Amino acid sequence: MNAIEVKGLHKSYGAVQAVRGIDLSIATGEIFALLGPNGAGKTTTVEILEGFRSRDSGDVSVLGFDPHDEGAGAREWRNRIGIVLQSTSDSGDLSVGETIEHFSGYYSNPRNVEEVINSVGLDEKAGSLIRKLSGGQRRRLDVALGIIGNPELLFLDEPTTGFDPEARRSFWALIQKLRSDGTTILLTTHYLDEAEALADRVGVINEGKIIEISTPIELGGRSTAQALVSWREGSHTKSLATDNPTAVVNKLTTQFNGEIPELTVTRPSLEDIYLKMIGVTHE
Ligand code: ATP
Repeated sequence: MNAIEVKGLHKSYGAVQAVRGIDLSIATGEIFALLGPNGAGKTTTVEILEGFRSRDSGDVSVLGFDPHDEGAGAREWRNRIGIVLQSTSDSGDLSVGETIEHFSGYYSNPRNVEEVINSVGLDEKAGSLIRKLSGGQRRRLDVALGIIGNPELLFLDEPTTGFDPEARRSFWALIQKLRSDGTTILLTTHYLDEAEALADRVGVINEGKIIEISTPIELGGRSTAQALVSWREGSHTKSLATDNPTAVVNKLTTQFNGEIPELTVTRPSLEDIYLKMIGVTHE
């Protein structure tokens, strides 16, 4: 059974059609990244899956449960999922440790509080009041609260916004560890390198519709896109787009009789492909 199954999802806010017919299947154990520009409908979709927003139409199953159901089983279902929202409300007068300890009490099978604090890199701040944390530290606490319940399915809405590069790397390692433990993860992010590093598959959403779902390396024909070979010839940098970069490099090797000055061979990055897909071109 898939962890998440969505068919024909629609949601409007007055005249704004935020989600306009989304179909999505996410396998158990998969890391899936939802990409899209501001206002594309990512948070709306994710919050419907989390049971925080109602939908206008469509079928939604999350761990075999309709998140809109308030009846028997809703509490048990919530126990199986972890959520890191885009922004969280403040409980500034508790310490980091107290807050995580407090939240652990909501779950039947929580992780160890110290281990969670350590895994998000907040050891030195365990005794600090939340209102004294920096923005990035506060975000790490959000992530800690999302994983304290030992969830089967974790929702992460822009989890690393405000993280410094080192914190992002250690967050990625944490997510990879959760994956190896079998956690299914649905992530939204504006960082294409994050999607590339973590996601098994990505879905690009724009104006409330999914444009494409694929692996990061195959998205938008990326794996078969032409390579760009660049090198220096005298005072000029030359470049050539080609399907056969090896042949071009071989030819250049002969031409230069050995080392080719400033040689690079590149393919479009995930960001290049993504920007093209959502209609952003820079000329
Ligand atoms: P971002 O990357 O900026 O977080 P997003 O892809 O998560 O964007 P959503 O927050 O789902 O986008 O918003 C989709 C559309 O719905 C936007 O046009 C937004 O203005 C609108 N919208 C979202 N929430 C509400 C709301 N509570 N009331 C009215 N309109 C809303």
